[in-house]
Amino acid sequence: MHEFTAEVEALAAEVLAYSLDRLKNDPPLDGPRTAKDLFNEVGNTITAKGLGGHDALEVFTSVLAKACISTDHPRNLAFIPSAPTEYANLFDLVVGASALYGGSWQEGAGAVFAENQALRWLSDLAGMPKTAGGVFVQGGTIGNLSALVVARAEAKKKYPEATKWVIACSEEAHSSVVSAANVMDVEVLKIPVDANGKLMGSAVAAAIDELHARTTKRVFVVVATSGTTNLGIIDDLKAIAKAAHDRSAWFHVDGAYGLAALCAPSVRSKFDGIEEADSFIVDPHKWLFAPYDACALIYREPEIARNVHTQHASYLDTLKDGAWSPSDYAIQLTRRTRGLPFWFSLAAHGTDAYTEAMEHTLEIARGAAELVRAHPDLELVCEPELSIVAFIRKGWSASDYQNWSDQLLSDQIGFIPPSSHQGQAILRFAIVNPWTKISDIELIMERL
Ligand SMILES: *Cc1c(COP(=O)(O)O)cnc(C)c1O
Repeated sequence: MHEFTAEVEALAAEVLAYSLDRLKNDPPLDGPRTAKDLFNEVGNTITAKGLGGHDALEVFTSVLAKACISTDHPRNLAFIPSAPTEYANLFDLVVGASALYGGSWQEGAGAVFAENQALRWLSDLAGMPKTAGGVFVQGGTIGNLSALVVARAEAKKKYPEATKWVIACSEEAHSSVVSAANVMDVEVLKIPVDANGKLMGSAVAAAIDELHARTTKRVFVVVATSGTTNLGIIDDLKAIAKAAHDRSAWFHVDGAYGLAALCAPSVRSKFDGIEEADSFIVDPHKWLFAPYDACALIYREPEIARNVHTQHASYLDTLKDGAWSPSDYAIQLTRRTRGLPFWFSLAAHGTDAYTEAMEHTLEIARGAAELVRAHPDLELVCEPELSIVAFIRKGWSASDYQNWSDQLLSDQIGFIPPSSHQGQAILRFAIVNPWTKISDIELIMERL
């Protein structure tokens, strides 16, 4: 049935050659172009007769790929970039060639088994019980939403009289929490952080008690962030866990970026309290060297999540055999085995290599902070807790920051878009790539 013609074989060689070249060499940064500009160059690529594999690949490699910023470039320190290992990327090719279905145990047992071992590693690092488990979903946004939906279902059983459900989180929580609240039609109680930008247990307790005393609204979940996307700040997990549980609320930890550093001994104690979580997320596609897209969503008691998320339909009932089906633990049905590239790299390299790579990025971040401190015109926004180094350039207006950043990209030196903190424009280095060297940071700093 396979038609692996000479033409397909030739294309396979081209695809592999391109992929290998991309893996071997530092990628160019590249940058965006307008749709009009791209259309002028490639025209309409969807035609009745088709371009043929060679020409379609050529359109991609010579034009379209170059209009995408390489997120794994060592001087792309924007937002949270990416840094997949070569092994993870290579295995993604295997996943793509294998037509694996990752929704059910029946269809994907071997793949799901491997994904679950990778989840187990994360769960053990967090100190969760052996019965904890979950699933790889597309990203932190879906991971947070899926966990929050489970938390509300639990609360509905306990508090049937509640008139409105409320998510409590800090004012620094990720935008995806507000997005989840909108989808769920619940309210958000934003609690002020302390002088260091941290959400504290006492503030959580006071804010919830005040709301419950005054209204019939009910806080069903407290979301702590570890660490925040803008500055990498880790909330006081231990005390927040207690404040939440004392009030019968679910404790969810959004660690999409920061919880990756659970495997780094030098910062592990900052996450104390994570072992109390009812659920947490961490994105291997951010700081665990995996390609897009993969968020690990882990529940203390996965059975609760299964009861909430399992889809029921006559054609699916054959799958209800008690086996572990990833579809049952989040908002999804069909799913790619998106955790496999991460699993393969972890299995092949071993967990010590992850600890080493993680400590290395933290070391570079400490070195970058040192360079900022030593620079007469720069000032740290805060002492970095993890691998985000945020600072201001004295005397610059918001447009100076933007112009500097635009020039840095157009000169193909680096990608560092400005952010802001308390209304003040800032720059930030988000260091997640083990190939980022201190000389890369110096090269950027020469332009400040
Ligand atoms: C990035 C991030 C998210 C969203 O994750 P996606 O994978 O982009 O959907 C949520 N929370 C935090 C703290 C993040 O850094």
